[in-house]
Amino acid sequence: MSGIGIWIVLIIIPMLFGLYAQAKIRSAYSKNVRIGSRGGITGREAAEAVIRSAGITDVKIVEVPGELTDHYNPLTKTLALSAPNYRGHSLAALGVAAHEAGHAIQHKVGYAMMSVRQTLAPATQIAAGVSNFVIIGGIVLLSYAGSALGYNLLVIGAIALAVICLFHLVTLPVEFDASRRAKEQLVGLGILDRDEMRGVNETLGAAALTYVAAFVAALGSLLHILLILAGNRRD
Ligand SMILES: [Zn+2]
Repeated sequence: MSGIGIWIVLIIIPMLFGLYAQAKIRSAYSKNVRIGSRGGITGREAAEAVIRSAGITDVKIVEVPGELTDHYNPLTKTLALSAPNYRGHSLAALGVAAHEAGHAIQHKVGYAMMSVRQTLAPATQIAAGVSNFVIIGGIVLLSYAGSALGYNLLVIGAIALAVICLFHLVTLPVEFDASRRAKEQLVGLGILDRDEMRGVNETLGAAALTYVAAFVAALGSLLHILLILAGNRRD
């Protein structure tokens, strides 16, 4: 395959997949945030019911600004929900709230992949900070001067991308497991009827796709750099 062909497969297609996943979550969310649940309880109440049922009493549930800024912070034991999910009783709100509660349960039961993800988080932050600079610098030095410094910078870039890639890979089971717990609890606790789960499945499925896209993009970038390194080693 030519350099352009490799670039299209490893960089452009994953990027388009990422844009598709972003569009998908936006449309799934905006559709299901308008469908009210029959039970009428809010996202906050649903998150509370799910964590209480798991015997969790030390997690704070707070409202945060922004759209889809919902998250669980294991360091502060805070479950943060954006306003429409905190106050609303839509299928999307209940799905997202129960998903974040799923993360709180993972934390309580010591779900292994969550601990691995937590451990990788600081290194990933550093890697994300340096990778672009190092890779662009490496490619420029390598193509114009063919220097050993350029090659070495790309090796550092590849290590940074490998860390980022591993982080996104470990994120996948964490996210899938949180959604699985959410769906079980929404039905099990009687928060939603079975026929209302379609909206939840649609929303959480689209959210999961964005995590898959992030992993695919990281993997594509890593392979791309590894191919460049392999090509320059031969020369
Ligand atoms: Zn999540």
